[in-house]
Amino acid sequence: MEESKLSKIIGQHQEMENFFSGGLVLKSTAEDSQQNTAETISPNITNELGKIADEVRKCRKCELGSLRRNAVPGEGSPVAQIVFVGEGPGADEDDQGRPFVGRAGQLLDRIIKAMGLKREDVYICNVLKCRPPDNRDPKPEEIISCLPYLQQQLELINPKIIVALGAHAARSLLNNNKAIGQLRGQFHEYYPGLGGHPIKLMATFHPAYLLRNYSDDNRAKVWEDMKKVLAELGLPVPQRQ
Ligand code: URA
Repeated sequence: MEESKLSKIIGQHQEMENFFSGGLVLKSTAEDSQQNTAETISPNITNELGKIADEVRKCRKCELGSLRRNAVPGEGSPVAQIVFVGEGPGADEDDQGRPFVGRAGQLLDRIIKAMGLKREDVYICNVLKCRPPDNRDPKPEEIISCLPYLQQQLELINPKIIVALGAHAARSLLNNNKAIGQLRGQFHEYYPGLGGHPIKLMATFHPAYLLRNYSDDNRAKVWEDMKKVLAELGLPVPQRQ
């Protein structure tokens, strides 16, 4: 790659990093307003989430089960108000058995921090619990096999808001085929299992998309979406300096 192009890309990434980590005045941290404190964490939910994780680690419902190094069930607060849902593990996640720990994960961490939250405040997981080879798109049959795990996790955690990262997560949870550009920026309703009340779902661009298609506009759109999430939860919305 030409040196000038390379330094432009590096500059853009630096700008995005600054936007999502520095350059923000945090009016107060979520610690002040998070209701879900350690004392209220239900050992029962933790237990049940652990059982799902055990099942996921043994799962062979689709071919991905025999291709993975590690399954990636998900992690975070069992009483999170926000659950972030991605598409499926990449190479770093497959290596570590943890969601969003690679480059896209680092950007997600910065987005969470820019929201005045900590990674431990939220729950992070994926539609697919095992890595598709070469990071190809999930196949419909893989989503069908894997989705019940995510549905059970969402039923247990019962968050106030689900943030679907990218088209695959949004479409799988909303059961439609719309483009992410059409879905993002507004709240949708996710219906959990029988009789459950709907959970608000905000779709936004996947951090990996943001890394690949950097523009001020795309970055601003993600931040607009996250501000709506914070406002809906009654959490302070950090202002840009
Ligand atoms: N991309 C995803 O969708 N999920 C991860 O866990 C990592 C990258």
